[in-house]
Amino acid sequence: MPNDDKSRQKFIAGSVSIATIFGIPVRLHFTFILLLVFLVFIGVGGQQSGATTALYIVALFASVLLHEVGHSLVARHYGIHTLEIVMFPIGGVSRPERQPKASEEVWIALAGPTVNLLIALGLLAWVAARQGFVALTLLREPTDANLAERIAFGNLTLFLFNLLPAYPMDGGRILRSVLALRRPEEEATRVAAGAGQVLAALLGLAGLLWGNFILVFVALFVYLGASQEGMAARGRILTSGFPVHAAMISDFRTLQHGETIRDAGNLLLATSQHDFPVMHGESVIGLLTRSALVRAMLTDGPDAYVSSAMDREYARVSPDAPLTEALPLVSGTGACALVMDDEGKLKGMLTSENLSEFILLRQAALAQSKAHPQ
Ligand SMILES: [Zn+2]
Repeated sequence: MPNDDKSRQKFIAGSVSIATIFGIPVRLHFTFILLLVFLVFIGVGGQQSGATTALYIVALFASVLLHEVGHSLVARHYGIHTLEIVMFPIGGVSRPERQPKASEEVWIALAGPTVNLLIALGLLAWVAARQGFVALTLLREPTDANLAERIAFGNLTLFLFNLLPAYPMDGGRILRSVLALRRPEEEATRVAAGAGQVLAALLGLAGLLWGNFILVFVALFVYLGASQEGMAARGRILTSGFPVHAAMISDFRTLQHGETIRDAGNLLLATSQHDFPVMHGESVIGLLTRSALVRAMLTDGPDAYVSSAMDREYARVSPDAPLTEALPLVSGTGACALVMDDEGKLKGMLTSENLSEFILLRQAALAQSKAHPQ
């Protein structure tokens, strides 16, 4: 957001902060922790020591992290800062503060897999210089002796896997950027996300047939990612060029700070609104969300004041800000941001619900103008 640090602090849910690299916060998604547990679980009992298993996992973790750092550093080269790196099981996700242009995205997307290729080649060169290559089949059995080869092999897998043309993976991003050179961006995204979903379905099928459940898990992840990214990208395209006030709710109800939770509950029932700005006279002092209302009803009872239950740290956005930039603020289900001008005067509300309605209308208008060109 312009002049708004709120969106920078909005992290991907379900993740914990672990470190900062090149000024970028690194966070661990809880599914990654599940994977670590799983890897330790299947790693125990082989012909390798516990220390080697730990080393192998740490090395793969570092490889995935360096992959993301590769993306981030090339993005920085184009002046795009990375808000956070979140480590998911099939790779990290680095969240850029803005969407790169197609020509920039090719290089940013290539940077990650290149890091893995370099790590693999470096390790293999080191192994070859030391003892010569071992047969590939020997890598199936993890031992302490072939640790370096297995890390190299892991990096080669990361390299190839990320280059699969399945949006939102790097290969899919490259595909999308190349398509976007000749077609409208919306179409490029749709094709790349569609390819991602088809590929994910094939991967999932292969995983089921081979009884490889990691593959099924990965396929599911790619599938969800592709549909989510496809939708997010469509949202960005359909909202671009519009200011926030074009999509905000301008007809809404507010609460005064002296009103009670009972009053708020009545208003919740009487209107279709879920969130209520809490006012002190003309100025906003907080936002009462539906979940905070219900929580207050349970803990404090209906006679408590709304001002004790409201959120003082609510998302706010200027009415003239580009709508595209406000998308991250209301990306979660039920999310709500208050639209306020420079003097702090409340102008409207932006919710995920009415934003998706805005997008639906835009889509219909576009389809109509394509079907009946003027
Ligand atoms: Zn990547």
